[in-house]
Amino acid sequence: MVESPVDGGSGVRDGHDHTQADGDSHPHPHTHSHAHEHLSPADRTVRRVNMAAVVVPLLGLWLAIYLAWGTAFDWTQAAISLSMSMLTALGITVGYHRLFTHKSFTAVAPVRYILAALGSMAVQGPVIEWAGAHRKHHQHADGEHDPHSPHHHAGGEFAATLMGTLKGFYHAHMGWMLAGHQRGLARYTKDLREDRVVAAANRHFKFWVIMGLVIPAVLGGVLTMTFKGALLGLLWGGLVRILVNHHITWSVNSICHLWGTSPFVSHDESRNNAIVGVLAMGEGWHNNHHAFPTSARHGLRWWELDVSYWVIRGLVVLRLASHVKVPSAEKMAARKK
Ligand SMILES: [Zn+2]
Ligand SMILES: [Zn+2]
Repeated sequence: MVESPVDGGSGVRDGHDHTQADGDSHPHPHTHSHAHEHLSPADRTVRRVNMAAVVVPLLGLWLAIYLAWGTAFDWTQAAISLSMSMLTALGITVGYHRLFTHKSFTAVAPVRYILAALGSMAVQGPVIEWAGAHRKHHQHADGEHDPHSPHHHAGGEFAATLMGTLKGFYHAHMGWMLAGHQRGLARYTKDLREDRVVAAANRHFKFWVIMGLVIPAVLGGVLTMTFKGALLGLLWGGLVRILVNHHITWSVNSICHLWGTSPFVSHDESRNNAIVGVLAMGEGWHNNHHAFPTSARHGLRWWELDVSYWVIRGLVVLRLASHVKVPSAEKMAARKK
């Protein structure tokens, strides 16, 4: 999720169920011949970094709640956390997903860079790796080579047992990242590597991750003129915000491939889930999205709230974006179930 050693691997891994803990080198009969590949130093580093990206925000939440216990609701910290949350989430939904992965609209260079920088602050990996994994998800949606399908990853138990469903859910939600880095993604992202703006933002990933912690800490300190304010800014606007944003994004991969409605034919298990739809800024209308992946608009019916699409429309009004793709009424009618 965070680290991306060069995509040197040939082909796609099939061993998604090998999630043994870091440093645990017991040879699995099935993986023995690939043991070196699975436990290379780069893989170990990626696992450690990804595990840290999951655990550190959780510790942040614990500390934030501990410090807030017994005190009145802090509007300053709430405002910092909410605005950081909205901006970085839009970096993922409008930037990483709809602009860079699916090219559902075009935007001027400064907007491209800002969206990639905001997305980086969400700590879901550098933009090019993220787009590669997501393009692969669309190409193999819920098939054997889908990096994060809740199906086919529970030893065929899915839907047969509760345990199978839970295993599939965990894999799609976060297990797939903790298993190591994805190989063979480079073939999906040639266009993005050739975009100088995107390539620059990709190189600056770590800087923006750090800024995603520094900015709320500075805001918290300046707005309250206290050290505790800075610490709370770091916790609520940084770590807790990252934690919440992670789980909302991951819910699109897990919940929206398990539970909800599927009004359109999409050849996979994608679902429209209203709760994730609203929380994930429109990304939870995921069956619509799989049916029309290049559409800038995911909430296709008037009542399907899609904040990310409003932002794209806003960018168009400001003349910062153009060539917005949306499916025609005929196309939608043709794919209706
Ligand atoms: Zn999907
Ligand atoms: Zn997509």
